[in-house]
Amino acid sequence: MDDMSSFEERCRNAARLIDGHSSIMAFTGAGISTESGVSDFRSPGGVWERYRMVTYQEFIADRDARKGYWRMKSELFRELSNAKPNAAHIALAALERIGKLKCLVTQNIDGLHQDAGSSPGLVIELHGTNREAVCLSCSKRWPIGVVNSILEEVDFEPLCDECNGFIKPATVSFGQAMPEEEMVKAFRCAQESEVLIMIGSSLQVEPAASIPRFAAENGSKMIYVNRTETASDHLADILFRESAGKVMSRVLELLND
Ligand SMILES: [Zn+2]
Repeated sequence: MDDMSSFEERCRNAARLIDGHSSIMAFTGAGISTESGVSDFRSPGGVWERYRMVTYQEFIADRDARKGYWRMKSELFRELSNAKPNAAHIALAALERIGKLKCLVTQNIDGLHQDAGSSPGLVIELHGTNREAVCLSCSKRWPIGVVNSILEEVDFEPLCDECNGFIKPATVSFGQAMPEEEMVKAFRCAQESEVLIMIGSSLQVEPAASIPRFAAENGSKMIYVNRTETASDHLADILFRESAGKVMSRVLELLND
């Protein structure tokens, strides 16, 4: 680990690592989106602080919990509709265009990677997406805007027009199982990755946090970009505490030189 060397030197080392390998993987968490104005649910003052957390089980069982959940989401959508991808999202999309980035695993549900130009097929959303809503009974899907626009009309309790089932944003809620297919794909990526760029996760939430660890165990080089200490900093070959946008745009510049 060379966290004592200068910013420029670490950027050069990161660019060299990426340049020298063909299978690059990115793993992103909430920290990459805070620079786009999306609040991390752990950060004070966010939407999350003003609402009680609703588990999947409560959502299913309790009408008031469902309504509270949708009220919280409708506030969050207002915040998300103003969010634009930042330099770090854009750099990852550029890494894909030059043929380096083979997969992008994210814990985020904000869709900003796709907005930045990353191919939907490349992005693996471990916690689902806020861009769609899904019927919990028949799995019918809607763009989130469609459901969001009728929330007040239906008193924050939208129901499926096919089967009358409960509709929920297509995210993985607390207490809900991780999507199996995405987990399998993410671990396969980690196994094949030669260099993993981790951006904006404190790597505390399992099982997502075990994905970068698995990459390291399979011989991948590790570049960590996170404002605060993570649970596995000791695995990082290159460690950044600087802003993700600043780091990734500099690394990209060096790659393009
Ligand atoms: Zn339905």
